[in-house]
Amino acid sequence: MLALASWVVALALGQASDPYVRSRVVAGDSSSQALFWNQPRIDWQQSSLGNPNMNPHTEFDAVREAFKSWQTLFTRCGNLDFAEGPLVDARKVGFTRDGDNQNLVLFRMTRCKSFVDASDACWKAGTCANLYDCWDDEDGTLAVTLTTYDERSGIIRDSDISFNAATYTFTTGSGAPCVLVPGPNCASTDVQNTATHEIGHLVGLDHTRAAGSIMNRSSSPGELSKRVIDSGSSEFVCVTYPKGGMSQSSPHPVVDLELGPKAGCAAAGGGFSALALLGLGVLARSRRRGVR
Ligand SMILES: [Zn+2]
Repeated sequence: MLALASWVVALALGQASDPYVRSRVVAGDSSSQALFWNQPRIDWQQSSLGNPNMNPHTEFDAVREAFKSWQTLFTRCGNLDFAEGPLVDARKVGFTRDGDNQNLVLFRMTRCKSFVDASDACWKAGTCANLYDCWDDEDGTLAVTLTTYDERSGIIRDSDISFNAATYTFTTGSGAPCVLVPGPNCASTDVQNTATHEIGHLVGLDHTRAAGSIMNRSSSPGELSKRVIDSGSSEFVCVTYPKGGMSQSSPHPVVDLELGPKAGCAAAGGGFSALALLGLGVLARSRRRGVR
């Protein structure tokens, strides 16, 4: 299987093992502002193409199930609602000021490296994915969440999730790993498992090494455990987005010129340890883009 073939032993900077780690304007620096939404509703949409490799197209509902898990949690102790809009033809991720922005979920089907010339200016500009509708990240990465936020306040403006269907075989079955027991219900790279992790990034979570967290950066073929949101990530929702209260910035209270002053207090965050992480399997990671 492709997923097995791409198993890598990756050496990465260690992640804090706190129950959860908030994403920061400066990644890993807990003295910099944490990223968060300060609006009551996040509208999101799926690309109408879905994953053309899948038939029937169970990926749409699998993504919805992942959002539903987060919604259940936010309904219990948070202050955000997720609302899915209609399928859209849009294929561009990122944020355009005064543009038509969606919080988009899409599958990229081809690797940019396979047909975009190395001298193409899009590589340096970071625009290849949108320009050619292709996967421009590492082959070993399952999915990427691109979050655009205000650099001063950490307030998130837009977040898009891209799946790497150029390299990985996505499935929605709940059976044994396909590498062990191939069959119609076997699990290769599970859509819901992957989406639950990426939505964690969307709401402002970074990776943690905490055992059992959905925000562990590595994933093995056939993994389904990240479909269920762990207690640490749940705590993040309850603390950062308190039910009936204002979303919590950290470490500085937010004064947004457009939105007026917002109260805030420091939430639990994590410094990064210098321990090296030996991660088996593919890496799911997030990207951030600040705007002023
Ligand atoms: Zn990740």
